[in-house]
Amino acid sequence: MNSKVLAADHNPNANENANNNGRNEDIANRPDSSEFQNPPSQSSGVLSRRAFVGTAALASAGLAALAAAQTQQELIAGRQGDYSSNPGPKNEPLVEEEPDPNLPPFTDRGDPGAIWFSFDITNRRVQSGGWTHQVTDREFPTSKDIAGVNMRLTQGSMRELHWHTSDEWAIVLTGTSRVTVMQPDGKIYIDDVAPGDLWYFPKGFPHSIQGLGNGGTEFLLVFDDGHFSESDTFLISESLVHTPPEVIQKNMGWSRDDFNKLPRTQLYIFPGEVPGPLEEEKRRLGDNLETMTKYTYKLSAQPPDRSTNAGNVRIVDVDKFPVAQGLCAAQVTLKPGALRELHWHPHSSEWQYYMHGKGRMTVASTGANARTFDFNPNDVGFVPIQAVHYIENTGTEDLIFLEMLKAPHFIDVSMNEWIARIPNKLAEAHLKLPLATIRKAPQEKLYILPGS
Ligand code: MN
Ligand code: MN
Repeated sequence: MNSKVLAADHNPNANENANNNGRNEDIANRPDSSEFQNPPSQSSGVLSRRAFVGTAALASAGLAALAAAQTQQELIAGRQGDYSSNPGPKNEPLVEEEPDPNLPPFTDRGDPGAIWFSFDITNRRVQSGGWTHQVTDREFPTSKDIAGVNMRLTQGSMRELHWHTSDEWAIVLTGTSRVTVMQPDGKIYIDDVAPGDLWYFPKGFPHSIQGLGNGGTEFLLVFDDGHFSESDTFLISESLVHTPPEVIQKNMGWSRDDFNKLPRTQLYIFPGEVPGPLEEEKRRLGDNLETMTKYTYKLSAQPPDRSTNAGNVRIVDVDKFPVAQGLCAAQVTLKPGALRELHWHPHSSEWQYYMHGKGRMTVASTGANARTFDFNPNDVGFVPIQAVHYIENTGTEDLIFLEMLKAPHFIDVSMNEWIARIPNKLAEAHLKLPLATIRKAPQEKLYILPGS
């Protein structure tokens, strides 16, 4: 990130007082400063991104009136002439990836907290068999409710048998894996999962993951606790080797020699042999050891809950995937230019994972704090509980991302739907627009809107 831009942004008062602000004096001294005091109105209500950047058509009078005028004038004025030039050092690839925070839309203001992070700037723990890296509240402190792990297992390699204090929701990104999980009643579940498939392991239920096909597998794990750490799980190796051998002998009937052969340190991720066919493993269990509860779910096979020329939305929550009591998701695909409509979630913050394409999001929070960031594959986004947000496909390919909520049900409130349901006089009084204009907006929740 451009530190100069961020440093200026981080001072919530930086834009507030025109008389004490050096940049504003510059603007006031410019011969054409009157233009910024009274930005020309634009007959069309739609503003393209180019209009923000261009030297003409600075803003629509309507939009400029929505927030403190000085702040917006200053942001608009900053785009004129040489003001936004940046002759010093900069991290070019990062600036290119993050045009919005680098030169924020004039509607941005203050700081609603960090909304962007990426797995690709975290440390990968690479070892024989694969790797893992994570985004928890240590890396991304705003996300208190949810943490994420991105893991790779090569063919045959295993994530060691383990359990942990958080629920685990997962989606397969590439390749196939075999997963096992045992319930406290002793019944076990075994399944093979492919790209787009989910699994869900409740807290404390012991489980395993193993890479299967030629290319192994890569997957995303999502935990219902921002402070979860993938390096702090209960492991079968450590549990046994830190129990006195005479107790192991009483408990398992294994001799001291057997004890000495147990791994002395954790395995965590390690290579192994590809297992036999799934049906063979299941046959060994017989009928009464296999649970009928489903811990995997084929999200990619689920018909979209919404599908239009703007893209589609698949919602998976406890109604469709009953074991997923703690986390739910919407997988959203947006065509180029399309928009995930303005909305918020009443009962949860939102943790996002970007799977494909390019997008941008603005989070508008309380106290007129709003920030816009750009997102690329393997990036993580965060939206504070109830903060208004949209996601826009700014690329040339489909944008695919996950909206994860720490809740059993996926619930959102649509700004359009709310405005549509408000009595006419109430809407006019608040929006200061003619009723005919107000009612041009979609009259119901559409989830996704086309780009043109
Ligand atoms: Mn786990
Ligand atoms: Mn959302």
